[in-house]
Amino acid sequence: MELVIRGGTLVTMNAEREVLAADVLVRDGRISLIGPELDETTSIGDREIVDASGMLILPGLVQAHVHLCQTLLRGRADDLPLLGWLKTRVWPYEAALDEAAMRASASVACLELLRGGTTAILDMGSVRHTDVIFEVARTAGIRATIGKAHMDAGDDLPAGLREKTEASLAEGEALCERWHGSEGGRLRYAFAPRFALSCSEGLLREVGQLARRMKARLHSHASENRDECAVVKATRGQDNIVYFDGLGLLGRDVALAHCVWLSAEERALLARTGTHVVHCPSSNLKLGSGVCDVVSLLEAGVNVAVGADGAPCNDSLDAFLETRLAALLQRPGHGSSAMPARRALELATLGGAKALGLEKEIGSIEAGKRADLVIVDPGRAHAAPVDDPYAAVVFALNRSDVRDVFVDGRQVVRNGIVTTLDEAAVVADARSQIHRLDVH
Ligand SMILES: [Zn+2]
Repeated sequence: MELVIRGGTLVTMNAEREVLAADVLVRDGRISLIGPELDETTSIGDREIVDASGMLILPGLVQAHVHLCQTLLRGRADDLPLLGWLKTRVWPYEAALDEAAMRASASVACLELLRGGTTAILDMGSVRHTDVIFEVARTAGIRATIGKAHMDAGDDLPAGLREKTEASLAEGEALCERWHGSEGGRLRYAFAPRFALSCSEGLLREVGQLARRMKARLHSHASENRDECAVVKATRGQDNIVYFDGLGLLGRDVALAHCVWLSAEERALLARTGTHVVHCPSSNLKLGSGVCDVVSLLEAGVNVAVGADGAPCNDSLDAFLETRLAALLQRPGHGSSAMPARRALELATLGGAKALGLEKEIGSIEAGKRADLVIVDPGRAHAAPVDDPYAAVVFALNRSDVRDVFVDGRQVVRNGIVTTLDEAAVVADARSQIHRLDVH
């Protein structure tokens, strides 16, 4: 099956950052050719033509830190700081999740993500029901790297989330064996110790070794909030990133969400080890955590991606919004030219691809890469009359301007409608499941 997307303007994000008026030929899920009038060339099989005249075509947006399991708690955990938010709202909710509720939560999240142009995610699952998250991602057609959250230590953990160390690691290993590389590589596993305070030192040490043995990513939260950092320092005797370094939890295969509160030494450690940082601006603002100094991280040589985090700390899972905020938030500290629109879009495409270890597969529109593509309509009043495509995407357009979305060349959004999930049914199920769970 071939697909030609014709007549659009490609914001390629290739090495030259070319913006091209060109067609895209997709063959077997990959971008096969980019050039003029490809629909005139000889077909080798069934060919579908998608007319993108007047449209912008972006690489699929990447969110390298989300929690599909938390979506049902949207709007039910407001106005709290991180540790109180976790202990009084998020953890009791996650402990109450059963398979049906998890399925509802992940489904509504995947629908929102795909509809908004996010084609790839790195998901920190909950302690239990990770298989259900994978099943939903498989059906939805999103590119997903998913990890079960490890939690074998810490205060105020509900019984439903507290794990025994060995069982936690064994479950992670089994999930990795079951899912890593499935669906032609679209689904992958990541080992996800939740954060320093929810994990024993033994678990942290072993999970790093296990991930390397299984050739899977590592994903965690770090240095999000000042109180969290103070507790890590008081109980572990070191700053969070230094502590992780000593446990073998930094490296090119590691993506850490937040990293808001870092010492200069920690920033240098992240750079030296090639550890990726996932900037979650809405979440950091809503929980009052602070503002990640992305410019200093980039200047130090750290790769930075963006992510919406979970619905109860955002409440949108919107890559356009996070990219816009990433561009704006650096300006009060570093000046108005600190994060131009193009740089911000790099975080949401190339930066995300690197954080997932998929920079050879996604993140730009180039021949040979996977056909993860987003067609955006720049023609409505709120984006008129912008010419610069980066300025349009980052500052003027929003997710409701997404028209079509493709993952591995498969169309998962057509004219604003997700093709793989039934929105009305998914939303109704989300509503009924959160009422059934009866968590407040
Ligand atoms: Zn998170």
